[in-house]
Amino acid sequence: MEHFIDGKRHGGPGRTADVYNPATGQVAKQVLLASAEDVATAVEAAELALPGWRATGLSKRSAIMFKVENIIRERTPELAAIITAEHGKVLSDAAGEVARGLENVQFCAGLMHHMKGEFLEQAATGVDVHQTRQPVGVVACITPFNFPAMVPLWMITTAIAAGNTVILKPSERDPSAAVWIAEAFAEAGLPPGVLNVVHGDKEAVDELLTNPLVKAVSFVGSTPIAKYIYETSAQHGKRVQALGGAKNHMVVMPDADLDGAADAAISAAYGSAGERCMAVSVLVTVGDVADPLIERLKERIAKLTIGDGTDPASEMGPLITRAALDRVNGYVTGAEAEGATVVVDGTQQEFDGEGFFTGVSLLDHVRPGMKAYDEEIFGPVLSVVRVDTYEEAVRLINTNQFANGVAVFTRDGKTARQFEFEIEVGMVGVNVPIPVPIGAFSFGGWKNSLFGDTHMYGPEAFNFYTRRKLVTTRWPEPSESQINLGFPTH
Ligand code: NAD
Repeated sequence: MEHFIDGKRHGGPGRTADVYNPATGQVAKQVLLASAEDVATAVEAAELALPGWRATGLSKRSAIMFKVENIIRERTPELAAIITAEHGKVLSDAAGEVARGLENVQFCAGLMHHMKGEFLEQAATGVDVHQTRQPVGVVACITPFNFPAMVPLWMITTAIAAGNTVILKPSERDPSAAVWIAEAFAEAGLPPGVLNVVHGDKEAVDELLTNPLVKAVSFVGSTPIAKYIYETSAQHGKRVQALGGAKNHMVVMPDADLDGAADAAISAAYGSAGERCMAVSVLVTVGDVADPLIERLKERIAKLTIGDGTDPASEMGPLITRAALDRVNGYVTGAEAEGATVVVDGTQQEFDGEGFFTGVSLLDHVRPGMKAYDEEIFGPVLSVVRVDTYEEAVRLINTNQFANGVAVFTRDGKTARQFEFEIEVGMVGVNVPIPVPIGAFSFGGWKNSLFGDTHMYGPEAFNFYTRRKLVTTRWPEPSESQINLGFPTH
């Protein structure tokens, strides 16, 4: 897979990496890994395109957003097939991530509203003040493997709508969706150089973080890399938002509808093989809920169909790589030695072929201090932590290092309200297991799930991708002119 620089594909010699089809375990293609010089070439193309794009009328920018939304919507099956071939998630799930990405394109089509400034007449006698929003410049967007279309669409669309030019560095494990999207933007009329895609690893990322022409960095990925991106970008004077990993808890209160809670937990824990930053990975059962809930989970797990994501019968596909498979299975095989109970052992499920498949696993009696609880597993493993009281559940969650998403299942409004009030997590669901905000709000966690202070997509992203400029205006008569060395007063 080539880069996409200045409106065209960009090949060339250099290092490459294997891209797998996770369902077969076979190498499907090679992806170029950009050198620092390749990245600098893309950054220069973006810098050259910046004055023209910045000056482009907002109605024209908006028209491009409408057009690209139509192109991607009409050809969603094509893009979903690309995602499934490299990521492994089932086709319906791949189409779902495209739809969620398009929500942000729709939001950005309303950019005239989001780019509006403010005006204050007569701030002092004869003095007006107004504020405009201007783009920050060349923006780097670095994205993870698990949403190869949605997360790029969160970042690049808003950055472009706000008048910036962009270098997208997608995950090298499933790089093709990014180039497809860049070509869709080009077809919609986006001028060359406004959106560039470079593939690569640490070498490419480090050039983006240190190149003085890059003014802002958006990142989504694992916590250690997010922290590195945040610190390095800041050291080089860039504004940065870096979203990290997660450990999302779902609290089930004794008054919850247990069938509904079981359906929600299964969907949120095992959908996309647990490779979602908002996946539920810990089920916190309060009081006597654990046993009846686990019975319901077992019944549902027995009926799940795991297989090639292109097979419409499959509900869950493989993991992204063999290394991910071994790592995820390791949490299950090591759980018993740490004192947990393996209720369902997905590692024992057999699959034909060499694909990176595992079954779903359910662990019980998990506690803080165990690896399965303390670390982000990022696979189809659901851990049950039993607690006696609501207060214990809240304490458990509020002392966790991650704080991306959380859910409470209850039929009691007072409990739900109290939970919403005191839980220290960025996105909260009440009887909603994966509370990803719709496009009119912004997305982001707290603590080690987000470094920086601006959330992604939606209104906050327009703040991140613009600088506010304040203009103070006065039109005095020449006769009013005088020298005054004092501090201006009104
Ligand atoms: P990752 O951190 O391994 O990679 C993310 C990006 O960083 C990729 O583009 C990769 O090429 C680059 N990268 C990897 N190692 C690097 C290094 N040493 N130096 C510089 N750049 C490097 O993450 P991943 O495995 O692709 O994605 C899964 C992770 O992303 C999980 O932890 C998941 O929770 C997280 N995630 C978080 C959110 C969120 O909204 N908070 C959303 C999606 C995924």
